[in-house]
Amino acid sequence: MSGIQDAATSQNPKSPYYSAEHLEFRHAVSRFVREEIEPHIDGWEEAGSFPTELYRKAAVAGILGLGFPARYGGLEKDHFHRIIAAEEMSRAGAGGLTSALMNHGVAMPPVVAAGSEALKARVLPGVLAGEKICALAVTEPSGGSDVAGLRSTAVREGRCYVVNGAKSYITSGTRADYFTVAVRTGGSGPGGLSLLLIERDAPGFQRRRLKTMGWACADIAVLEFSDCRVPLENLIGAENQGFGLLMQNFALERLFMIASCNSLSRVCYEDALAYARQRQVFGEPLIAKQVIRHKLTDMAMAIRATQAYLEQLVWLADRGEQPTADICLLKNQASLTMERCAREALQIFGGAGYVRGTRVERIYREVRVNAIGGGAEEVMRDFAAANLGY
Ligand SMILES: Cc1cc2nc3c(=O)[nH]c(=O)nc-3n(C[C@H](O)[C@H](O)[C@H](O)COP(=O)(O)OP(=O)(O)OC[C@H]3O[C@@H](n4cnc5c(N)ncnc54)[C@H](O)[C@@H]3O)c2cc1C
Repeated sequence: MSGIQDAATSQNPKSPYYSAEHLEFRHAVSRFVREEIEPHIDGWEEAGSFPTELYRKAAVAGILGLGFPARYGGLEKDHFHRIIAAEEMSRAGAGGLTSALMNHGVAMPPVVAAGSEALKARVLPGVLAGEKICALAVTEPSGGSDVAGLRSTAVREGRCYVVNGAKSYITSGTRADYFTVAVRTGGSGPGGLSLLLIERDAPGFQRRRLKTMGWACADIAVLEFSDCRVPLENLIGAENQGFGLLMQNFALERLFMIASCNSLSRVCYEDALAYARQRQVFGEPLIAKQVIRHKLTDMAMAIRATQAYLEQLVWLADRGEQPTADICLLKNQASLTMERCAREALQIFGGAGYVRGTRVERIYREVRVNAIGGGAEEVMRDFAAANLGY
């Protein structure tokens, strides 16, 4: 459980946002993380992989189905449930694992929103049961921020699309069974994009693992399509409607990322506080130094502000609103808070924080991916400005 007793989190019975059901769910996810992830995460990160069995266990624990239709094995719960899952899973201090395990939360919403009934029935039950792994493939070697400019093509030929191009930095890229892939089926710009579900054994489809700074067990990969033939029935939604589906996806992805970042910031705060209490410097505990107490209070201040803003936006999202400018502003606030907390925590740890084996060290290596993925900080500022009317 989170150690900061914020005024507005589910640990506070007076919080307007959380019910007894939310609290019970938080306990269940926390137990799952303590029992199934924390004892193994250091080894998985060193090995660069985690057992695929974890997907099945997460499904049984009621985590994978969150927010998906019950008729495909999902659990129709509010957005606060997914935020709680992000927060508790991030307590292991390994954002890459959370991202890989919950990747269906970005790969499958377009299938739910626009896929044919046959496609949904074929794909969703296996994914939500943790038997199949899925990925979202948008970013390309030529660029990821400019989604409307992507270059991979899909050309109709008989009963198939013939796909050519490449995707880069794709989470779960070598292990996934299903890939929701953005391709160009029409002219230039956003109006020429479509989404295709491409299966791992499609002819002409190859994958190659990348070595990354952090997120070691998230299986980040390059995908290559060379005259890859994909059945027409794997089109998700109408042709050339893919951009809108991707944009719908981003709002929820960003709220999930924000919750995860802020939970990782809390881990930094709590671990630094515990270390400062027990570490002796110049004959007294580190925490006795005012400068250290100020670092910790500044961390707590930024974490609490981010949390309160997040809960307000999740509440709005649960009421069908999409506060785009606020989500972009908050994504930056969350990644900048994480950057600051990881920096200060590692500084408080001193040399001990530079050695593999602490959560703080791993989180420090994960800071940048949150400032780049899901919309780079500069792009978030541009979107926020446009949505604020300047
Ligand atoms: C670990 C990891 C996992 C990922 N997983 C996935 C995944 O599963 N699926 C997927 O599709 N993608 C994934 N990505 C890709 C991620 O979404 C992209 O890296 C991101 O969108 C940025 O694209 P890019 O890296 O091509 O950078 P570019 O678009 O080339 O931008 C480079 C830099 O330029 C700056 N910049 C960009 N645009 C602007 C602008 N308008 N104004 C000012 N500055 C700007 C930013 O600082 C940016 O970081 C992942 C990335 C990482 C690192």
